[in-house]
Amino acid sequence: MTAEIVSVGTELLLGQIVDTHAPLMARILAECGIGCTHRATVGDNMDRLVATLKQALGRADVVVTIGGLGPTVDDLTRDGIAIALDDTLEEVPEVAHKLRAFFESRGVQMTHSNLKQALKPTCAELIDNPNGTAPGLICQKGGKAVLALPGPKGEFDPMAQGPVRQFLEQLQGGQVIHSRVLRIIGLGESLVEERVRDLMDGENPTVAPYAQTAECHLRVTARAADREAAELMIDPVVDEIRNRIGNHLYGFNETTIEMATLDLLVERGETVSVAESMTGGALGARITSVPGSSKAFRGGVIVYTVDAKQTLLGIDSGLLTEFGPVSEETAKAMAETVRERLGSTYGVAITGNAGPTADVDGKPVGLAYIAVAGPDGVTVDKAQYRGLREDIQRRATQTALSQLRWKLLSDA
Ligand code: ATP
Ligand code: MG
Repeated sequence: MTAEIVSVGTELLLGQIVDTHAPLMARILAECGIGCTHRATVGDNMDRLVATLKQALGRADVVVTIGGLGPTVDDLTRDGIAIALDDTLEEVPEVAHKLRAFFESRGVQMTHSNLKQALKPTCAELIDNPNGTAPGLICQKGGKAVLALPGPKGEFDPMAQGPVRQFLEQLQGGQVIHSRVLRIIGLGESLVEERVRDLMDGENPTVAPYAQTAECHLRVTARAADREAAELMIDPVVDEIRNRIGNHLYGFNETTIEMATLDLLVERGETVSVAESMTGGALGARITSVPGSSKAFRGGVIVYTVDAKQTLLGIDSGLLTEFGPVSEETAKAMAETVRERLGSTYGVAITGNAGPTADVDGKPVGLAYIAVAGPDGVTVDKAQYRGLREDIQRRATQTALSQLRWKLLSDA
């Protein structure tokens, strides 16, 4: 069984937005065991849309469209699918009713074009859209299926991961391809590969490494009758990998290092605060991006200049002059002071030179000191990163989170 994806929208062709939905759709198709053989992007133009859909339908069993289900004149997907399938549109009274109620409840005048969203090809089933006004479509005709999903991310993602995935799994006839991603920190890709090399020869499940910025992922993938069966096949492989990788394995799937570290803090009833120079608040931003982080995160300071380090944290000017702002001593003082001032269990500090222009006080681009202060004293990591400014900053926050996590694990 094969599928094609058609992304609809002139803004995609103009490069004004990046197509992030099609790759997600492609992954879902792969996980359902359906081969995606072509991907196309077409503008908001009826002739070209219909031609693209017809061509896709001529080759594939399933065509998934993304976007263009809205109420405006440039939203053509619904009509285009009806034409390509040689079908007509009919109004769905319940949807029309819902739309009217939606506009009434907001006190907004409904225009005639809004009612477009209550239309569907006669061969279509609707996919409920709890996050927007346009329902998705599952059209089945002549042995082909066309699925239409709305463009806004908040509507697309849940629909793709929920009812669309379910439909595709059924259509494919029972076999699913399911993966679990193991997230590993503090071991490079080649070291990870060395430790699990023999497991990578397996055919079902398969094990494959992916290098990420300052961490490594292993994807364990099983083919089975359903997701539960696949999970059961994946479990022993994950146990074996854990035996070989130990605590470098910090989480699964969508779990980030900030989530894993916060979980440990919350479990222990402990807190952290941060003092940042070179990362300008990025560490605090990563921590606070996790819902519920207030249980363990007290706050922090951005002390970018030497002045700020003195005024906001009261770091001794003698120390700053003697060792410089990018130094082990300054990092230590920042971590200890922020810990003390905010009364947290741990204080984490980052100071360094993110580049790109030149050395600062003879300190090379990419040099960073990352300190973690805790009840048992303070430790500092000296790192020399490579890459663009944002890579260097990202690696520094990654090291900071990782160092805090190791400290928590070693104190356990
Ligand atoms: P609406 O009801 O908002 O008009 P729609 O289903 O008609 O939704 P579009 O008009 O095509 O969808 O796109 C709406 C917005 O959704 C775009 O401005 C863009 O932000 C996002 N979007 C659409 N297609 C994609 C895509 N392929 N990848 C990422 N974002 C997308
Ligand atoms: Mg639209």
